[in-house]
Amino acid sequence: MATTQVKAFGTEAPEAALQQMNIERRNVTPKDVEIEILFCGVCHSDLHTARNDWGGTIYPAVPGHEIVGKVSSIGAEVSKFKVGDLVGVGCIVDSCKTCDSCKQDLEQYCLNGFTGTYNGKDKHSGKQTFGGYSEKVTVNEEFVLHIPKNLDLAAAAPLLCAGVTTWSPLKHWNVKEGSKVAVVGLGGLGHMAIKLAKGLGASVTLFSRTPDKIADAKELGADEVVISTDDSQMKSVAGKFDLIIDTVPYVHDINPYVATLNISGTLVLVGYLGPLEPFLNSVPMILGRKSVAGSVIGGIAETQEMLDFCGKHNIVSEIEMINMQDINASYERMLKSDVKYRFVIDMASLK
Ligand SMILES: [Zn+2]
Ligand SMILES: [Zn+2]
Repeated sequence: MATTQVKAFGTEAPEAALQQMNIERRNVTPKDVEIEILFCGVCHSDLHTARNDWGGTIYPAVPGHEIVGKVSSIGAEVSKFKVGDLVGVGCIVDSCKTCDSCKQDLEQYCLNGFTGTYNGKDKHSGKQTFGGYSEKVTVNEEFVLHIPKNLDLAAAAPLLCAGVTTWSPLKHWNVKEGSKVAVVGLGGLGHMAIKLAKGLGASVTLFSRTPDKIADAKELGADEVVISTDDSQMKSVAGKFDLIIDTVPYVHDINPYVATLNISGTLVLVGYLGPLEPFLNSVPMILGRKSVAGSVIGGIAETQEMLDFCGKHNIVSEIEMINMQDINASYERMLKSDVKYRFVIDMASLK
């Protein structure tokens, strides 16, 4: 199929630094939108994929799934977008559209596997997909989102992954005015969870291991910060929360947080993938009808709903802008949680 070469930043091997390279993008097919990428957020998944931390990375790899930009070309049958529209692309660029999950707008749980924005398999070319660390991307219009015009475009980029990853559980567990929500961990995901839960009218508590996050959390909208290493503070919130969004990306003891759930409350894991240690004790779950659940990103309709909500409530991410060439140093800083709260690449630096 016809392709065009575009500049990108990617890596050839797990231990190699990211560097400039050329990649092929398919030319627009009738249902495709071509996007000139203006900004791209930097997600922890980018780093894990670049370094093959989860296995399965195909090289060269070009990360980036918090993409915002401007429509530069459209296919003949595109009806939802026109040239010049401000648009976004998140973690999903294709799915089967026919399975039970897809029929319910749950493309993130596509039973045939969704096509990832990077390191996925492009159904058109049969080759792997490349992410947003590049000049342009071509995506089927069904997987492209409208970005509300009033939002700061660069700061809206992280909504496409960090935003919807926390929005989806807030909506699924019906958070509304007066709900009591707690967030574990204050990073890219955690700070979005606070803003979105607050926007929905919930009272929001941050669990933090140290007091140094208190001022920042309150500035982001948290009503309260509970120091999770302080037993008396943890006891003071026993049985309080309807929903806990746990964004911590490494193995940690969730039993103390389960104790703070209300009857029928749910703790939902969105950051950590793997076996829980120490063991999860079922006693408080059974005696309080409590749940421990998981959730991954969100569907396309839900992502648009979240973006529209953010437009209405003027919610964006807190970002630090970087040039494309700073990406390797930025990955090192991310590993030390040295970012408030998301890096966003100014793609003009790639030109
Ligand atoms: Zn991500
Ligand atoms: Zn499907």
